[in-house]
Amino acid sequence: MTLEKIFTAGLKGKNFIEHRRIILTTTFLIIATFVFTLFAFVNLFQVENRFVALLDAIAALSTLFALINLYRNHAVDIGAIIGSISLLLFFIAFVYINGNTSFGIIWTIFFPIFVITLLGRKLGLELTAFYYAILFYLAYNGIDVWQDGMWDLTSFLRYCVASLVITYIIYMHELSLEKAQEELDAIRQKEIVYTNKLEYLSITDSLTSLYNRRHFDKLFALTLSHAKRKEDTFIFFILDLDNFKRYNDNYGHKAGDDALIQIAYAMKSAFKRESDALFRIGGEEFAGILKVEDIELAKEHLQELVKKIEELHIDHQYNGDYKVLTISLGAVVINQNDSLHEDMLYQKADSALYSAKHQGRNRVVFA
Ligand code: GH3
Ligand code: MG
Ligand code: MG
Repeated sequence: MTLEKIFTAGLKGKNFIEHRRIILTTTFLIIATFVFTLFAFVNLFQVENRFVALLDAIAALSTLFALINLYRNHAVDIGAIIGSISLLLFFIAFVYINGNTSFGIIWTIFFPIFVITLLGRKLGLELTAFYYAILFYLAYNGIDVWQDGMWDLTSFLRYCVASLVITYIIYMHELSLEKAQEELDAIRQKEIVYTNKLEYLSITDSLTSLYNRRHFDKLFALTLSHAKRKEDTFIFFILDLDNFKRYNDNYGHKAGDDALIQIAYAMKSAFKRESDALFRIGGEEFAGILKVEDIELAKEHLQELVKKIEELHIDHQYNGDYKVLTISLGAVVINQNDSLHEDMLYQKADSALYSAKHQGRNRVVFA
C-alpha cells in the first residue's frame, strides 16, 4: 500500500473539496485513534484518571471502527461524523474532568477547525455551536474555581472570544473555498460544452451536416481494423452526382448547394442506424460505411437510394435522358477474408463508381 493510498483510503474525490475531505477524514481518524489509544494507556496507570482512561478507550475504539469502515466500505461520511462526535465527547469530558489544569483548555479551540472541514460548513457550524454551548457553560461555572480560583471572568471572556474568532475564520475560509470550487465547476462545465461543440465542428461538414473528409480518413482506417479483428462485414460506397458540373453551370451554384443538401438528407433517411456512417468527402462526392449483416439486403438499400433520388424529381435538363438529378454509386464489400488495405479498397470503390458512370449513370456498381 502506498502512502497516498493509506491517507486517501484508495478514494478519489470528484473535486478539490471532496478530495480534501477524504484526506482529512482519513488522516484525522488515524491520528485520533493513535492519540486516544496513547491517552488511554497513560491514564490507565494513574489511579485517579481511570475514568478518563475509559473515555479515551471508547473514543479510540470508535475512531478505529470508523477507520476500518472507511477503508473497507469507503464510508467517508460516517467516518467524518464518528470522528467529529468522538472529538466532541473527548474534549467535553476532558474539560469537565480537568477544568483548566495546566491551561489544558487551549486544546479545545482546535475543534471547529476539524469539524467544519470534516462535516462541511453547515453541519460543522451546528456541531460547533452545540460544543461551545456546553464548554462555555463549563468554563463559566469554572470562574473562581479553576486553577485554584485564578480562572476569572476576564479569562473566561478571552477564551470565549478566541473560540468564536477561530470559528468565524475557519467558517469563512470554508465558504470562500466552496465559492471558488463552484466557480471552477461552472467554468469546467462551460469548457465541456465548448469542447464538445468544437469536436462536433471538427468532424462535421458545414453544408450537409454529414461527417467531413477528416473524419472519414480516421473512421475508414478504424473500420478496417475492426473488420480485421472481428468478423464484422461492412459495405463502403462512394456516391457522386451525375453531370453536376452542368447542373451548376445552368442552375447556379446556390441551387447546386441546395441539391447537395437534399442528397445528404436522402442519405441520412436511408441509413439511420447507429453503426451507419455517412460523409461528404469532396465537393459533390459522398461516401458511406455501413455495417451489414445481410449483404444482399444492404445492396438493395443502395439501389433504393439511387431510385429515391431520381424520384425526388430535381429538375436537371442537362443530365442525359433522365432530365432529373441522379447519382452514381460505386460500392465494395469489406470483410475479414479480403486483404484489407485502405488505398486498395478505396480504389476498388472508385473503379466501381467509374463503371457506373460508363454504364450510363443513375446506378450502383459493386466491385
Ligand atoms: P460526372 O457525372 O461524371 O460525375 O460529371 P460531373 O459534372 O458531376 O463531374 P465533374 O467532376 O466534372 O464536376 C463536378 C462538379 O461539382 C464541379 C462543380 O461545379 C460541382 N461542385 C463541386 N463542389 C461543389 C459544391 O460544394 N457546391 C456546388 N454547388 N457545386 C459543387
Ligand atoms: Mg466527382
Ligand atoms: Mg459528378
